[in-house]
Amino acid sequence: MPQTFPNYINGEWVSAGPTFENINPANTKEVVGLFVKATAADVARAADAAQEALPGWSNLTAPARGAFLFKAADLLDQRFDSIAAEMTREEGKTLPEAKGEVRRAINILRYFGGEGSRQPGFLVPSERDRVHMFTIRKAIGVVGLITPWNFPIAIPVWKLAPALIAGNTVIMKPASASPLSSWRVMEAFHDAGLPKGVFNFVCGSGGELGSALINAAPVKAISFTGSVEVGQWVHAEASKRRLRIQLEMGGKNPTIVCADADFNSAVENVVNASFFSTGQKCTATSRAIVEEAIYDKFVAAVVERTKKLKVGDGMQPGIDIGPAVDAGQLQVDLDYIDIATKECGAPLCGGKRLTGPGYDDGFFVEPTVFADVTEGMRIAQEEVFGPVLAIMKAKDFPDALRIANNTPFGLSASIQTTNLSRAFEAVYGMEAGLLTVNLPSAGVEYQLPFGGSKDSSFGPKEQGPAALEFYSDFKTIYLKY
Ligand code: NAP
Repeated sequence: MPQTFPNYINGEWVSAGPTFENINPANTKEVVGLFVKATAADVARAADAAQEALPGWSNLTAPARGAFLFKAADLLDQRFDSIAAEMTREEGKTLPEAKGEVRRAINILRYFGGEGSRQPGFLVPSERDRVHMFTIRKAIGVVGLITPWNFPIAIPVWKLAPALIAGNTVIMKPASASPLSSWRVMEAFHDAGLPKGVFNFVCGSGGELGSALINAAPVKAISFTGSVEVGQWVHAEASKRRLRIQLEMGGKNPTIVCADADFNSAVENVVNASFFSTGQKCTATSRAIVEEAIYDKFVAAVVERTKKLKVGDGMQPGIDIGPAVDAGQLQVDLDYIDIATKECGAPLCGGKRLTGPGYDDGFFVEPTVFADVTEGMRIAQEEVFGPVLAIMKAKDFPDALRIANNTPFGLSASIQTTNLSRAFEAVYGMEAGLLTVNLPSAGVEYQLPFGGSKDSSFGPKEQGPAALEFYSDFKTIYLKY
């Protein structure tokens, strides 16, 4: 019998009510856990508890708050292997990828634990005699955190950690497809002795709980990561209450491959960014835009490399790519493969759901490469969020830059080049919140700001020192002595 995981409100486990199943996408016969469905009333109680806990928590010194983050990080470190294995079982990514993500979450907690001792502000000279003027940072209050399934521990933690260190109290609503990883974070904070009501955790359908969370009177801010469609709704609803809003959403991320690139490394970077984590990274490359001079050779090399990728259960050693996260995402992948086939012909490799021993009970799809994709096609404009790469031909570098920017999205982008001027033209000219040069478009660190531009994002950036901008307010003081 699978374990049942309760909600967590005001420091108490809340286990009454029906449950939903957390299924292993590599083996749908395995129920990883049963999660108690929260109700709108639970969300309201969580918001009240967070409001009640707010004065005590925000009046602690920031280094004292940081001590809880360090303690939770230590507990997650002690539980590292089991949490990573659970993540592979609930989300499907390979075990090495899951371990990398758990390590990142621990590092983020320690980074923001240390931020408790920094939190820099301003101290500037006054024009007036004997006036001292400076700023301090204040918490904004109760914040709602809504997270997606694809980075089930890193994203919850990169919202939670800056929220807590800035003195806010929190209600977290994780994605229903992979709630266990963030449940473990909440458990670690409980075990670390976090005061009751500071971190509340409610599971269940976003469609059912979203409105209750956004409209709970104590909630002052919503940080959301997920799809554009839901993000737009969150924005519209939260704007009615003039909540502070942060949205990180989808992308159609380009990698420009210049004729002067280090060829083998460019092939490796494009294949890595397109297919690892099953293409289910918001920063994944989904368009490779290749200069005409090397186009045919590059397409052939990518196809050859892609065919060597091993798809399977991410718990097995040697597997490169796990399954789609659920039946819905698998169907989206297959639908877009169908759409692209009608638009530009059969894929050069992949294109099918995998069947047979080891595959029949999971949501496995072949990594798929389409070539000769042009700008007007849906496969060049719409996010798939699966292992599907569109390769496009550019006449020259300016043409590649133009094609790269020709989507409504602007999350991540990459350029592969050995030409310094082109690298800098990309730095200044590619419309994206983050850019990599001679690296995969995916694979970010937590010490710098993270987030997109254009339709991919709204509001202040996450991670790094910038994260505090969303989770705190400056208070400005003028003091005559
Ligand atoms: P999603 O369907 O938009 O769901 C995201 C979260 O919103 C989930 O917790 C979901 O709950 C919840 N939700 C659904 N409807 C809601 C509503 N009406 N009100 C409030 N919350 C609601 O996205 P996803 O499928 O989990 O994630 C994939 C998407 O996330 C992709 O588009 C990807 O690009 C994007 N993403 C972006 C970034 C970034 O940093 N830019 C990072 C990772 C992922 P349920 O799970 O219960 O439906």
